[in-house]
Amino acid sequence: MSAQARPLFEFPLRTRLFIDGAWCVPETKQRLPVVNPSTEETIVEVEAGGPADVDRAVRAASHAFLAWKQRSGAQRAAFLRAIARGVEAHCEHLAALQSLNNGKPIAESRIDVGDVAATFDYYADLAETLDAAEEEIAIPSSEHRAVIRREPAGVVGLIVPWNFPMVTTAWKLAPALAAGCTVVLKPSEFTPLPELELAAIIERAGLPPGVFNVVTGTGTEVGAALTTHPLVSKVSFTGSTAVGEQVMKAAASSIKGVSLELGGKSPIIVFADADLDLAVDLVVGGAFFNAGQMCSATSRVLVERPLAQALIARLADRVARTVVGDPFASGVQMGPLTNRAQYERVQRFISRGKADGASLVVQGGAPEGPGYFVQPTLFVDVPTSSAVWREEIFGPVLCVRSFDTEDDAVASANDTEFGLVATVVTRDAARGQRVAGALQAGVVWINAPQLIFPQTSWGGYKKSSIGRELGPFGLAAFQEVKQILSPRPVTSERLFEA
Ligand code: NAD
Repeated sequence: MSAQARPLFEFPLRTRLFIDGAWCVPETKQRLPVVNPSTEETIVEVEAGGPADVDRAVRAASHAFLAWKQRSGAQRAAFLRAIARGVEAHCEHLAALQSLNNGKPIAESRIDVGDVAATFDYYADLAETLDAAEEEIAIPSSEHRAVIRREPAGVVGLIVPWNFPMVTTAWKLAPALAAGCTVVLKPSEFTPLPELELAAIIERAGLPPGVFNVVTGTGTEVGAALTTHPLVSKVSFTGSTAVGEQVMKAAASSIKGVSLELGGKSPIIVFADADLDLAVDLVVGGAFFNAGQMCSATSRVLVERPLAQALIARLADRVARTVVGDPFASGVQMGPLTNRAQYERVQRFISRGKADGASLVVQGGAPEGPGYFVQPTLFVDVPTSSAVWREEIFGPVLCVRSFDTEDDAVASANDTEFGLVATVVTRDAARGQRVAGALQAGVVWINAPQLIFPQTSWGGYKKSSIGRELGPFGLAAFQEVKQILSPRPVTSERLFEA
């Protein structure tokens, strides 16, 4: 990386835990190196908490809960808007920190920061609606009245991954705070820096101590302690399906609520009538954004046979020309993978694809290293039994198969244990809607890139999710529903009836 390309940091890097409104060191006296994936150099060491620190953070959150819950929705909204403005004011700094720590091109990090601010603003709007929210339910009894209230779930544990560190945090944190919950956040051990800076912004927004806490550290030490702590009412987890299963089992021991956002192996179906330029853009964007480290990566391409040759030729050209390198350098389209384990995992998948008989069309260029740079890779005629077709690779590897009929396309698309998202590319509007209806996926884009608005919904079918984030669903995930039934007040009208 050239000296000029390095970001300049106007603030010192945050490395401590944030508990009860103070930056502190853990009882473990342990630290974790945070590595720059572009150079493999250690950027800084952050404090690595343990179960005792989780306990301290959860107790602080529990202590702060009643006062936070009793604030009006409008008051909580004011804090959320202050966070959104703080995020916007520090956009360049947050984006640079994320690209340094996660490796994604700086332009992608700027998109993430915009998404974070928009999410806090959206949930501020929803928090304001809560003040009026007591809903009367129509019941057959003329003697009684039933109302439904929505109340905050309590202290919640938020556990997030490294691929979209700030966005996955905002999608949980904004609705949790809006609902009136207090929070302990556990960032990924690979990418804690953006969230620690976000914590500094939240501190400056003036949230009362204990409402928001961050404990950095490993999943087995910090994450596991959050999932079993008796004062945590709910755990909202985004990460791998394997760890999601462990979280669910751990939470079951105390019957905690869980929301899970897990892996995917999503299809993009390209019909022969598709606009070819659009199809190429959507396939490339769906597979290579964030170096393919996307739960929503549409890495299984199903193309109708008459268009297959033309699409594959265009994809091969784009893959060969993809510029992989320093996330801060201009013109770079793809950075490194975020950590060594993921780099090695993706290399194993590429070898596996070759061994399983998939036909390797092209591999693009990538810097030799240091850095976890992977060549973007295009396979065609991939056997459906191959791991590269069935398992989440989480890297820049695209697999293509052809189909003959719409029914075949839908059956192949749904032939997976996941069901997060799907894309359909066709000029036939009726077919687009019909196929969208038949796909087992939580989000379907028709002729559109992977746009995600906070007002909508996020989550999938099958092993991809339990629950939904974003939209009103994201807020409901942090609420309990309370029914209050009481005799109707005796009015003069009712006295007359009697
Ligand atoms: P991961 O499952 O390894 O880790 C996720 C988080 O869980 C980290 O903070 C980790 O420290 C923590 N953790 C690890 N072990 C734990 C345990 N026993 N108890 C509690 N917490 C524990 O996932 P990752 O490698 O960081 O992220 C990649 C995965 O995330 C991919 O599978 C991807 O599909 C998924 N993901 C899903 C979505 C979605 O919205 N569905 C979004 C982003 C990423």
